[in-house]
Amino acid sequence: MKLTHLYATELNETVTQVYPDLPEDLQLKLVNHPHARELSLPQDWWSDNTLVRLLKDTEFCLSRQAVAQKYGGYQFGHWNPLLGDGRGLLLGEVENQTHQRIDLHLKGAGQTPYSRQGDGRAVLRSTLREYIGSEALFHLGIPSSRALCLFDSTETVLREMPETAAMMIRTAPSHLRFGHFEYYYHSGDSANLTRLFEHTFIHHFPEVLSQANPHQALLKAIVLRTARMVALWQAYGFVHGVMNTDNMSVHGITFDFGPYAFIDNFVSNAVFNHTDHQGRYAFDQQPGVALWNLNALAQAFSGYCSTDELKQTLMLFEPTFMSCYQQLMATRLGFSESNEQSLALVNGFLSMLANQQRDYHKLFRKLSGQDLHQKESAMRDDFIDRSEFDSWWQQYRHYRLASGDPSAQSALMDSVNPVVVARTHHLQYAIDAAKEGDYAVTRELLQALQSPFDAKWLSTQWADGPIEETAVSLSCSS
Ligand code: AMP
Ligand code: MG
Repeated sequence: MKLTHLYATELNETVTQVYPDLPEDLQLKLVNHPHARELSLPQDWWSDNTLVRLLKDTEFCLSRQAVAQKYGGYQFGHWNPLLGDGRGLLLGEVENQTHQRIDLHLKGAGQTPYSRQGDGRAVLRSTLREYIGSEALFHLGIPSSRALCLFDSTETVLREMPETAAMMIRTAPSHLRFGHFEYYYHSGDSANLTRLFEHTFIHHFPEVLSQANPHQALLKAIVLRTARMVALWQAYGFVHGVMNTDNMSVHGITFDFGPYAFIDNFVSNAVFNHTDHQGRYAFDQQPGVALWNLNALAQAFSGYCSTDELKQTLMLFEPTFMSCYQQLMATRLGFSESNEQSLALVNGFLSMLANQQRDYHKLFRKLSGQDLHQKESAMRDDFIDRSEFDSWWQQYRHYRLASGDPSAQSALMDSVNPVVVARTHHLQYAIDAAKEGDYAVTRELLQALQSPFDAKWLSTQWADGPIEETAVSLSCSS
């Protein structure tokens, strides 16, 4: 293992050293072994609860220089300078097998100077949701932080009700949030803002250093990556839930999983976060919010770029988002090219799903198995208004037949239309069992989510939508 503490040393004025304070009777319950191998982590950490014993030792390499990072963020549109790692610690960076540095971040390890009224803990329910959700997105091809391991404990913490304290280690190329840059900009601390930019250029975006204006090139990279990430969220029906700028990664990876959800029946303005009364972070608001957040981030670049440069860079968001989203949606319907006809068919399919409240994931997947030579498809029975489907089907099958070989199209569709996504009710099964000490359900679900496009899951419970569509409401910061 090659471990460094570059952030903690190069940005030492922006962090506070904090030793992990572990919940009582902590037990290692889940390990992402393939990921641990990619990071060349010692094998002996994972047996006999060894890592827990090691983390308690203040001389252990991961505990010795653990730090809480300071950042701010726009929360529901309002600037908040008081944020930072209130229950998370950056343990250091390790080099993976392709020589990239990856952060190890411990979540739920006690209070820090940025905890405000919080107890520094994370609960089993939300930790498990993050573990499963981040792996699910990663295997769908959506950039995301990753889960390395999870621990539960016998400690009870109070949320809306008493809950079990848990802890996880997550990984990411870095934990640099939009809110890091915003904080040093808004607090007028230009020395640390400069250091932050230098650190980001050198360690994370070295390619921008050869550009005429590295700051503008960095902003451009963040805009493009964010646009692509959100396009994938929209294409796969993922709702992040709390797109505050402290939860946005400069790497354009999905980050800080809270009240997220995959939609079941297609509702374009779906909201699952019960504190989001205005629907600010509703499913169909996400692209606009991402651009709003990028605008907020761009202010931190204003000392290094002209207003024109900032505007031009931000203008790259929309075309990047649109082309990425439209291309993927065309592929999901079996077309290799996104054009006026394929887009009209995508929109027609989406509006049928929305009008008739049908399952988003199942029906996309089902399309590849339909016989295009039949004037009537069995899929008509999946819709309440069958005639609406019939007329869409006529246009769809004709255009598919005119566009190429149906079996090649179907294979392409199956490679992008998942059988399994991390649906809220699946997560709940896993949580209910884990609360009883049984992680077998979680392991089974994780296994399915590791190959979400594989037809072998079609005959399992993981392909199913919820039995009854009940209103789902999830809480933040638990
Ligand atoms: P989140 O909503 O999880 O993105 O968190 C927003 C802010 O609240 C961040 O600064 C977190 O570190 C902090 N925070 C959330 N939950 C806790 C907690 N239980 N204890 C301390 N700080 C917390
Ligand atoms: Mg957060």
